[in-house]
Amino acid sequence: MSEGKKTQLVTAGRNKKWTQGAVNPPVQRASTVVFDSVAEKQHATINRANKTLFYGRRGTTTHFAFQEAMTEIEGGAGCALYPCGAAAISNALLSFVQSGDHLLMVDTCYEPTRDFCNTILKKFGVETTYYDPMIGDDLHTLIQPNTKVLFTESPGSITMEVQDIPTLARIAHEHGIIVMMDNTWAAGVNFSALEYGVDISIQAATKYIVGHSDVMLGTAVAKAPFWDQLREQSYLMGQCISPDDAYLGLRGLRTLDVRLRQHEQNSLKIAQWLAQHPLVDHVRHPALESCPGHEYFQRDFTGGNGLFSVVLKTSDPRATTALLDGMQHFSMGYSWGGFESLILANEPKSFDSLRTVAKPHFTGTLIRLHIGLEDIDDLITDLEQGLARYQALLGKQEG
Ligand SMILES: *Cc1c(COP(=O)(O)O)cnc(C)c1O
Repeated sequence: MSEGKKTQLVTAGRNKKWTQGAVNPPVQRASTVVFDSVAEKQHATINRANKTLFYGRRGTTTHFAFQEAMTEIEGGAGCALYPCGAAAISNALLSFVQSGDHLLMVDTCYEPTRDFCNTILKKFGVETTYYDPMIGDDLHTLIQPNTKVLFTESPGSITMEVQDIPTLARIAHEHGIIVMMDNTWAAGVNFSALEYGVDISIQAATKYIVGHSDVMLGTAVAKAPFWDQLREQSYLMGQCISPDDAYLGLRGLRTLDVRLRQHEQNSLKIAQWLAQHPLVDHVRHPALESCPGHEYFQRDFTGGNGLFSVVLKTSDPRATTALLDGMQHFSMGYSWGGFESLILANEPKSFDSLRTVAKPHFTGTLIRLHIGLEDIDDLITDLEQGLARYQALLGKQEG
C-alpha cells in the first residue's frame, strides 16, 4: 500500500464536526431531524446532498464521517452507502442504465452480479454481453451504439484473472461509455481504481473494510460527473444503512493496512507451498506468475490479500469432500475478508453455468482459499492433512 494511503486510513473522516472531539465519531441514530426555524429547515433542504443533517435516509454525522473517509481514500466526489455489496452493484447499474441500453459485463463477475443482469436488467430491457476478462484491445469489437456501461471486476471471481483496467477504460471512454469496477478484492486501497480510469469504484465493504465477518455493507465512490446521479437515484431506490454499520465500516478502515499486509504475507507463503505440492496443477494468486493477468497485478496494484485459488490436477468430488469435511482451521462458508480462514471448492463442471465466454481451460477441481490471521504453520498442516485425505480417496471406487 502506498505510504499516503496508510496515513489516510488512520486520519480520513476524523473531522471534529463528526467526532466532536473524541477519536471516533459517536453513533448518531436518527430518522427525523428537527429544525428550529423555517430558515434552518430551508438551509438543510438546500444542503441535504452535502453532509447536512436533513432526514435519516440521507445519513447522520456517523455516515458523513464514513463517506468522507471513503472519498478521501478512493478519490472522487462522494461515496454512496448500501446495505451490502450486492446492493451497491445493482444500484450503481440501475442508476445509469435504461431500457434499450447495452451493458458489457466481465464474464468472471461475482455470481449474483451475473444473476442480476440476467433477471432484473433483462426484465427492464437492458441487454448484457459478457466479455472475456483478458480481452484487452479487442473490447472495441463488442461495443454497440447503445453500450452504456462497461463493468469490470479484477481479479475475477473464483478464477482470479487480473484485468488490464487502463486499456479497457481508455477504449470505453473513447465511446462515451461509463466504467464501473467491483474493486472489492483490492479493498479500494491496493488498486486506485479512479486513477486508472474507473468512473465508479464499488466495494463489498462486507469483506476487508469491515474485516470481522459481522456486518453487511456496500460502498460506491464516484467521480464528479457521476456523483449526483448515483447518489440521488440510489436514495430514490431507498438505499440507506444503519449508523452502527457505518461506524463499523469506519472502524475497519483504521486497521485495514496491517490486516491486509498480514493476510497477504500468509497467503503468499501458503500459495508458494501449494505451488510445489504434487497434487496441484497451478495456483491462481495474483502475486504469482501462474495467475492470468499477473503482469497487470505487478504493474497496477500496490499489494494483495488473503484470497486466491488453487487448481488441482484431478477432479474427484468424493476426494474433494474428504478434504473439505476434515479441515480444522478452514471453515466452509461464503464471503471472505474476515480474520478467519475459509475454503470452498468448485468442480470444473460448475463453470458451465458461471461462465459464458471465458470457460476455464483446466480440468481439475478449483479450491478457493481465504487465508486468515491464524498461525501459518497451523494452516499449512491443515492443508497438508486435507490433501492427504484427498490423495487417499483419489480414484477409489465407492464401497
Ligand atoms: C461478496 C462480494 C460481493 C457482494 O457483497 P455482499 O456484501 O455480500 O452483498 C460483491 N462482489 C464481490 C467481489 C464480492 O466478493
